[in-house]
Amino acid sequence: MGTVARDGADAWQLLVQTYTSEVNSPYLFEVAGLVLGLLLGSFLNVCISRVPQGESVVRPGSRCGSCGKAIRWYDNVPLLSWVVLRGRCRDCCAAISWRYPAVELAVGVWFAVQAGQLWEAFSFSLLSAGHMGTAFDVASQVILHVGLAVLGWLLIGLLVMDWQTMLLPDAFTFSGMGISFLLVCVQAVFLGPTEDQVILGAHHLRLASPGNVVDHGNVFLTGPENMLGTWLVATVGAAAILLMVRWLYKVVRHREGMGLGDVKLLAMMGAFLGFWPAVLSLFLGVVLASAYSIVLLVRRRAGGATRVPLGSFLAMGGLITALVGSHLIDTYKSFLR
Ligand SMILES: [Zn+2]
Repeated sequence: MGTVARDGADAWQLLVQTYTSEVNSPYLFEVAGLVLGLLLGSFLNVCISRVPQGESVVRPGSRCGSCGKAIRWYDNVPLLSWVVLRGRCRDCCAAISWRYPAVELAVGVWFAVQAGQLWEAFSFSLLSAGHMGTAFDVASQVILHVGLAVLGWLLIGLLVMDWQTMLLPDAFTFSGMGISFLLVCVQAVFLGPTEDQVILGAHHLRLASPGNVVDHGNVFLTGPENMLGTWLVATVGAAAILLMVRWLYKVVRHREGMGLGDVKLLAMMGAFLGFWPAVLSLFLGVVLASAYSIVLLVRRRAGGATRVPLGSFLAMGGLITALVGSHLIDTYKSFLR
């Protein structure tokens, strides 16, 4: 299994190396990302309309929300059809929400950015002349950006669904956790024999045999154990923070302030991004939600019992963190110095 994966990675590495040295620009990667993102954004629109209602995302095909006529394939081209039809149904002229092209464009741009960053990682650090990353390094970069692309798709969907329906479907949050777990497993396959292993030198294990011979050995985590352990701590840890906030709110205010959907959403962000970036996402989400509430209060659009879709703001926090989180953390650290 390991050797097969390694041979595959080497062949792939060679292919990408040839491409990055011959074609000195990220455009091909970005255009491929954009097209794939537009298509998956179109599918995301179907999910947003149907998943909260518990309907199938496969059947029936797309229909107009007003007249119920099936949408022709040439009226279903992402982004372009909406522009050509000027946001109206071809049959009944009912307005089609700008949400459709906006979601398609957002997913398209997100995928293009991830593809561009992957190209950059290849051309500047992993496969440039004189510096060759290990199979694990290359696999890690591919998995990182595939993971971030999937996370963006899920977060954009959850953002819109929570805003429209106040629901954060398990079909998205639990699937996200499952996909990120699978990605960590695939990444672990590419580990070298001692790569990423952690020796817990401080804790010596006392091994006592029945014959009462006492031996001391190192306690250590192998690479895969370390990676899967980190994933588990990040996921459970992120969920635990919000569960605690939720419990505190209940004790103080004597009512539910937050659904379990928000807890699962933050756990999913922890699974993809890690524990501290999930904390940063939560912080940004709460700041954005508070700013939005203040605007509503000032405009007298809301009272004390108005519900703000917290999940939408958490998803925004997650998107910002995935995009520029490492820069934010670096800037913060430079202030502390
Ligand atoms: Zn119509």
